[in-house]
Amino acid sequence: MKIDVSSIIKVTGASIKLDGELDMRNAEFLGETYRFNEPLKISGEIYNNGQSLTLSARVQGKMLTECARCLKEIEADVDFEIHELLSREEDGASPEDDLILFEGHEIELDDIAADVFLMSTSGKYLCSEDCKGLCPTCGCNLNEGECGCNNEYIDPRWQALADILKQQEDN
Ligand SMILES: [Zn+2]
Ligand SMILES: [Zn+2]
Repeated sequence: MKIDVSSIIKVTGASIKLDGELDMRNAEFLGETYRFNEPLKISGEIYNNGQSLTLSARVQGKMLTECARCLKEIEADVDFEIHELLSREEDGASPEDDLILFEGHEIELDDIAADVFLMSTSGKYLCSEDCKGLCPTCGCNLNEGECGCNNEYIDPRWQALADILKQQEDN
């Protein structure tokens, strides 16, 4: 989604309302597996604060990713906010100013949204809160049934005792 900011770029206090769709299908995600096959909704505004443009927006929608525990493909909710300052390189802004630089009079929101998403996401999406994950021994999906491997969790407080018993057995 490209936004033409020519109407506000010279007018302090002016703003443009954002209400549209972002297309992040082609966003680069550094090898991570987030797929945005459907457009995301974006709403908010771009405001001229006299020095730069303030972009404030909320992005919502759905994406496909994989469960962090069992790696099954899942649909996850996307809901994040963007708060960024933007300025034109030709207006004297430098990359060290912590601003997003743009050229001309158009701002490409898809790329900005993709960057903000990557910075803010925890990466921890689960197919369900009580996903059992994969068996550490054989790799099978424990949500689909027990595999018979002995992965019993031992309370650390009992581990010392278990070790002593094991030692006695071995001797
Ligand atoms: Zn899972
Ligand atoms: Zn197993």
